[in-house]
Amino acid sequence: MPQTDVLIVGAGLAGLCCAKRLHAAGVSFLVVEAASRPGGRVRTHSTGGFLLDRGFQVLLTSYPEVQSQLDLDALDPRPFRAGVLVFADGEFYRFSDPWREPLGSLSTAIAPLGSPGDKWRMARLRAELTHATIDGIFLKPELPLRTALASRGFSEAIIRRFFQPLFGGILLDPFLDASSRMFEFMFRMLALGRAVLPAHGMQAIPDQLAAALPQDRLRMETRVERLDGTLAVLASGETIEARAVVVAADGWNASQLLGEPAALAGRPVTCLYFAAAEPPVDLPILVLNGAGRGLINHLCVPSNVAPTYAPRGMALVSVSLLGRPALDRNTLIEEVKRELREWFAGAGSWLPLGVFRISNALPVVKPLRKNAGDWRIRPGVFACGDYRATPCIQGAMESGRLAAEAVLNSG
Ligand SMILES: Cc1cc2nc3c(=O)[nH]c(=O)nc-3n(C[C@H](O)[C@H](O)[C@H](O)COP(=O)(O)OP(=O)(O)OC[C@H]3O[C@@H](n4cnc5c(N)ncnc54)[C@H](O)[C@@H]3O)c2cc1C
Repeated sequence: MPQTDVLIVGAGLAGLCCAKRLHAAGVSFLVVEAASRPGGRVRTHSTGGFLLDRGFQVLLTSYPEVQSQLDLDALDPRPFRAGVLVFADGEFYRFSDPWREPLGSLSTAIAPLGSPGDKWRMARLRAELTHATIDGIFLKPELPLRTALASRGFSEAIIRRFFQPLFGGILLDPFLDASSRMFEFMFRMLALGRAVLPAHGMQAIPDQLAAALPQDRLRMETRVERLDGTLAVLASGETIEARAVVVAADGWNASQLLGEPAALAGRPVTCLYFAAAEPPVDLPILVLNGAGRGLINHLCVPSNVAPTYAPRGMALVSVSLLGRPALDRNTLIEEVKRELREWFAGAGSWLPLGVFRISNALPVVKPLRKNAGDWRIRPGVFACGDYRATPCIQGAMESGRLAAEAVLNSG
């Protein structure tokens, strides 16, 4: 029966950041992970020279934990152009940069996206949120996002054509039912930093964290079946005894290991990748569906952001749908391509590279607090993960570090 000081269950960002903090404190640990690679929900598949992130995702450079825990330069981050393109009424409209130039972003030429009053409301929102503290945002009253936007006076047009596809896409919530606190936090992060892709895919983030740990302290393809106090019983039947256990599994697996009620809801997303001979847009920018109908929520050309995402002379197109349409793979691809042809004449020739249907991409955390603070579940047993904090990369990383500190403080 191998022994270790701290057993960490799960090598997602939370588990890896927990291990990083314990390692820095000189505490011995072992990370056990069910999958074959670290990263959890942050994974990249490589196929035929294309890099396919497991669902479209971006890193925000303004996340405090990214700044303190990652070597951002070593990730070779490639920035998206701020602002978005919106497809509405059969045309593309440029919404230049609502985070840096809120007053310039809605020109009269793109009036279908909102009203002049929306300009001022956007500028006010930006000023308010860039001056707010993160703690302050999470202490504000929590409203469904749609209600919060309407009560700020935003027009129905800008909600439907901009906020719904953009923040619906970030929060994976087509109905804008998500927390106004999470919206304000994300808006602030977008205003203060850049959205980037690591040149070698999102997987480079967990890979960097894992590479800084002693490699014999990471065991892949090792599922914990159940916990008996601080004794972990593995699927193989092997047992591992530890002074403390940190459950860094996703909320659904964690509830089973911790014996907590499994009431956590999840937000699904579907992502399709296509190879194209030419990029359908020239810019490294997000393209939103502002039409208010159709399967597609947003798309982008990751190879415009980081050319390393596609072989030379090819373009990679990523298309995201909110939810999991009940269509078989071929029908789904055909339906999405039919819709894409309304956006881009050449889309008919794009070759499908992959379809990712992710049921529990983000946990639905209500009420949303900055972090739950209850890292210690019972004597010797701790837990972390995005579902115990803010459901994003920042929340996962922060929760891992704080759970490690709770272990260190437990003596
Ligand atoms: C498609 C998609 C897009 C996203 N986009 C963004 C984005 O743009 N920006 C952003 O900030 N966030 C985004 N997120 C959210 C972000 O990726 C997650 O919040 C974060 O990665 C969660 O990390 P975690 O460590 O808490 O959980 P996980 O990543 O789920 O890690 C948990 C780990 O525990 C392992 N595990 C579970 N049970 C066991 C067991 N019994 N034994 C051993 N191991 C076990 C799992 O295999 C997994 O590796 C996105 C998520 C998805 C899925």
